Amino acid sequence: MKNKIYYEDAYRTNFTSKIIKSGQDEDGQYVVLEETAFYPTGGGQPYDIGTLNGVSVGSVEEKDGEIRHYVSGTLERGIDIQGEIDWEHRFDHMQQHSGQHILSAAFDNTFGYKTVSFHLGKEYLTIDLNIEQLPEEDAWRAEELANQIILENRPIETKWVSEDELSQYTLRKALKVTEDIRLVIIPDYDYNGCGGTHPRSTGEVAAIKILDWEKQKKNTRVRFVCGNRVRKQLSQKHKVLTELSPLLNASEENMAAAINRILTGTKTLEKELEAAKESLLQYEGAELLSENDGQVAELFANRPIQELQKLAKIMVSLNEDSRIILVAENDGKLQFVCAKGKNAEGIMKEWAAAAFPLINGKGGGNETFAQGGGEALVSAEELLQFLKENLEA
Ligand SMILES: [Zn+2]
Repeated sequence: MKNKIYYEDAYRTNFTSKIIKSGQDEDGQYVVLEETAFYPTGGGQPYDIGTLNGVSVGSVEEKDGEIRHYVSGTLERGIDIQGEIDWEHRFDHMQQHSGQHILSAAFDNTFGYKTVSFHLGKEYLTIDLNIEQLPEEDAWRAEELANQIILENRPIETKWVSEDELSQYTLRKALKVTEDIRLVIIPDYDYNGCGGTHPRSTGEVAAIKILDWEKQKKNTRVRFVCGNRVRKQLSQKHKVLTELSPLLNASEENMAAAINRILTGTKTLEKELEAAKESLLQYEGAELLSENDGQVAELFANRPIQELQKLAKIMVSLNEDSRIILVAENDGKLQFVCAKGKNAEGIMKEWAAAAFPLINGKGGGNETFAQGGGEALVSAEELLQFLKENLEA
């Protein structure tokens, strides 16, 4: 433990040391130091970043009992090292990690909900509680208690203890290790085995805010932020709301109602538009029938097949003696509809089938109604002409 400066002093950002090993593994080129202030990934806390003699340390991992600093440049074995920790990055981890201790203890002490896992991400933290449903009032009560502990600015102490001494403490979670046991203690509140870096007092965590939670198999995953991330979250969310407010012409508290009004309005407009289109098709159908004396063969460009089907159905219902052929060229493909009124002659699915070879097409239908589509191997006019011969036969 002597070579781990972060255990002696979590606030040390500058240190001198010596390189005792340099090597390469699957994660890249690394150096091992006589002693280091760089915290390696462990106990849910991510690694520190910083520099060694100005060379960037991109990650730090503990492997085979040594702390490997993965560096972006060459550093020779035996040379003296001036190390510098990225303090903003480290302090953020200290705030988040200790905030997690405080919130987990709040859930445990108040409701007996146990934290079964913890993840410290770049934006958020999560803890998994061993309950399937988290009542909303319990979440807010735990958050309130956690912030009260911060406000009281209680000390956060660390203590190395032997296995025998452990019986003096009621730990929040069973320990996985039997030697080098390190306890992180917030007196009369939380006793926990932990190898992470922590501030000296709860006040430095500044604030804890639960964002949301969701069921995660048999647990509940609670998403939250601590420390400076609370302000960052507030800024981000406020920026979004500030942009939305003039767009919606609504204040923050009226935004949800404003969005609901827009969505309801859109649905109504969609229905009205659909009705208007339907009525236009009625006019169009009636006009085509009267212009062509009930024997309609028409060409269209970029008109959905569904619309042509509707148009054809309207026409055959308006005129029971009518026969309809509609062809459209849509995105370089040819599509068509054949339909007839119940008093008219012809078998529509046969008309369609006869046209398929022209366009390498497929489709189908029945005696009174058929449709098909295929490649533009002939022009739309040629396809129409071919189908039209049925009207004249
Ligand atoms: Zn910890």
